[in-house]
Amino acid sequence: MAERLKGKRCFITAAGQGIGRATAEAFLAEGAEVIASDINADLLGTLSGMQTVTLDVTDMGAVQAAAKQAGAVDVLFNCAGFVHHGSVLDASEDEWDFAMNLNVKSLFRTARAFLPAMIDNGGGAIINMASVSGSIKGIVNRNIYGTTKAAVIGFTKSVAADFVGQNVRCNAIAPGTVETPSLGDRINAFDDPVQARKDFIARQPMGRLGNAQEIGALAVYLASDDAAYCTGQTFIIDGGITI
Ligand code: NAD
Repeated sequence: MAERLKGKRCFITAAGQGIGRATAEAFLAEGAEVIASDINADLLGTLSGMQTVTLDVTDMGAVQAAAKQAGAVDVLFNCAGFVHHGSVLDASEDEWDFAMNLNVKSLFRTARAFLPAMIDNGGGAIINMASVSGSIKGIVNRNIYGTTKAAVIGFTKSVAADFVGQNVRCNAIAPGTVETPSLGDRINAFDDPVQARKDFIARQPMGRLGNAQEIGALAVYLASDDAAYCTGQTFIIDGGITI
């Protein structure tokens, strides 16, 4: 089968583990030139076959420097994000600011840094990491997180509308629960991790968690020319949680 991303330069944030990593590996397997970034240099050191850049997406200067170094990219995958547990009554102002800064404002930073060269280069695809939690479905104990992921969808539509005439497509991916290292941490933080895992699985009608490769496969589609007619949309991939 033809490599679907041959000739495309793809920049990924939070590519050190989980969905970002699986997507970086999927992009590579599809023939892309991959620039994998993450705040954690040790994780990046375990990737092979791709360029790596240590990058904190909450640092505007660092994002601009990374974009300058990368030059024009065809695909930008904004994957960085953090999950806070709790209702609005559990949330602190510091947690709120942290999540808005990492999950939402980082999209502003990378768009400001990468879009101009993408446009000058004739266009490209931006993929933002949302979630079913937020504007698609209210999920218990995801107040801060769901709010940030709803904002990701709003940002995605805005960029799609503003740059559709310059051949820039901007879409979001909204997963259900996916087996990743941070999900493992969230499960282990419960008093009864065995029961917590059962509860996470129970809310997935397919009776299982998703895996990062399944999300990476959707990202490959959205990055590729197969998705040339798709923009401004949120692609739900959730094991049936929103049926
Ligand atoms: P993860 O949470 O296990 O890993 C996150 C990665 O982000 C780590 O490699 C970490 O080093 C990196 N990171 C943290 N802060 C950073 C920063 N400031 N700058 C750059 N990188 C930073 O990975 P995951 O669970 O696959 O989550 C990835 C994305 O997918 C997140 O946006 C998350 O909200 C979203 N998501 C995850 C799930 C799930 O169930 N796992 C479901 C829906 C959406």
